[in-house]
Amino acid sequence: MAPSSKSSLSSDSSRRYNPTISSESSGISTPVMKGPRSISPFKALIVGAGVGGLMMGLCLERAGIEYVILERMPQLQLPRTTIQLSANTLRCIEQLGLLDEVMAIAKPVSMVRLRKHNMAVVGKIDATYVKERYDSTRLQLNARYGHYSSIVQRTEFLQILISRIPAQKIQWGRYVLDIVNGNAGVQCRCANGTIEQGDILVGADGAYSAVRQNLYKHMQEKNLLPKSDMKPLKHTLNAIIGLTNPLDLEKYPSVGARFSEVDIVVGKESPYTLWLSPTSGNRVAWSVGGDLLTPEGSTNANFKQSEFGPEAIDAACALVEDLETPWGGTLADLIGHTRRDFITKVMVEEKHYKTWHYGRTVLIGEACHKFVPYSGQGAEQAILDVICLVNLLYRICDNPSHHEFCKVFEAYYVQRGPIARNAVSVSSSMSHLMNAQGLSADLKRKILFNLPEWIKLGSVDKIQVRPLLDYLPPTEDRGAKKSVKVPTSPI
Ligand SMILES: Cc1cc2nc3c(=O)[nH]c(=O)nc-3n(C[C@H](O)[C@H](O)[C@H](O)COP(=O)(O)OP(=O)(O)OC[C@H]3O[C@@H](n4cnc5c(N)ncnc54)[C@H](O)[C@@H]3O)c2cc1C
Repeated sequence: MAPSSKSSLSSDSSRRYNPTISSESSGISTPVMKGPRSISPFKALIVGAGVGGLMMGLCLERAGIEYVILERMPQLQLPRTTIQLSANTLRCIEQLGLLDEVMAIAKPVSMVRLRKHNMAVVGKIDATYVKERYDSTRLQLNARYGHYSSIVQRTEFLQILISRIPAQKIQWGRYVLDIVNGNAGVQCRCANGTIEQGDILVGADGAYSAVRQNLYKHMQEKNLLPKSDMKPLKHTLNAIIGLTNPLDLEKYPSVGARFSEVDIVVGKESPYTLWLSPTSGNRVAWSVGGDLLTPEGSTNANFKQSEFGPEAIDAACALVEDLETPWGGTLADLIGHTRRDFITKVMVEEKHYKTWHYGRTVLIGEACHKFVPYSGQGAEQAILDVICLVNLLYRICDNPSHHEFCKVFEAYYVQRGPIARNAVSVSSSMSHLMNAQGLSADLKRKILFNLPEWIKLGSVDKIQVRPLLDYLPPTEDRGAKKSVKVPTSPI
């Protein structure tokens, strides 16, 4: 496929192609340019306008690389869920000039508290890490890592990304059915009969990725797919999640506080785990997972496959409405303040795929690593994938060959694969522990939530990477605890 013509970016031309040495996040010490490329070296097709796909689009936009995003939904969805962003991604979000807008819709988390079914506190994890010093002039800054871990409504975050991407580059209502992954280019066929062509294809279409399924089918026919990638996602339990309307602060005073204190309540007789996360706008994101949610007489498989229409939502709510909350009432109070269409079913599934790319197709986000929903890792890891992949793509030569794309994708996998695999495994162990019943699980949770401060800090220090886009002016790393270097692979 022929390289694309001049980029349509309107950025200042004096900032284009300014050769310099830069490689803070990639660790590759070859000369690279700064600012958007003056001629786009290729065109990327991005499938999916979720966190991964939109971030990919925005980062390519700033890199001067041509792209189009194909999204199956006719428009942005309702704000039903939240995502978590930490210093690892907020530093790059700041570099993209979005920090103030994102912090305006975010609620920083100061504490995660574990409670028994009767609300007795078992232990707490301090999530601010600011005991040493505190910047009162810029409250959004965290002294240890530079930024607080924050809860953000997913749709509001997506809206910010969309506002920075030219409208014609996001094509809504284009449901990708098939892909052709050839030596000279890629093609996507959509449900409405249209076909889109590009030089590379980025599958950012989530846990049930059509891109991945198409790619794997093709690889399986050629006997190239590892056995573990043929297995479906591992379904561990059922959950429902909801996002309340703004709550009355007289009744729920802590919900209006500047910091969010997240409560996790673990059931005793009835097997459930309830999560309550105050978010911006005086709302609470609530979620219940566990066997309690499997209605009598129905099997897990039935629940899993059933449509989650209004009646099913009412039935599921009836199963959990009597659970106590730390605010003195029951979950029925919060359900009463939640629009039915703001309640949704979540598959608590997990998997790390071994195959992230083949030919001119590459996967990012939940298409190649699915996290359990409460881990706070789904959006984070998707954004980290994007930063790594775009940094590598930015440095590709002007007329890249098929082989060069393959090398970039392999370098991306070598850098990101082990980190994502580890994150899936840690999240999975945490999720199992939070949902397990019995004395042994109670004891392990108690130990975890009462670990000495230095052990808790050490485990967070270890995962500080805070990467940047190589081609944009860097933002200061304000964290007193510097980020760790990620091993890189030269292309
Ligand atoms: C509705 C929804 C609710 C979520 N709720 C939570 C939550 O409560 N907690 C949590 O931790 N994580 C949640 N997640 C997942 C979390 O948002 C993701 O982990 C994170 O955003 C990174 O995902 P992603 O960009 O890889 O994929 P996603 O955010 O899943 O985005 C994938 C996008 O691809 C689109 N798409 C899928 N198939 C096709 C196709 N064939 N053609 C075109 N477009 C396609 C989808 O419509 C979607 O917009 C949710 C995801 C969604 C979609």
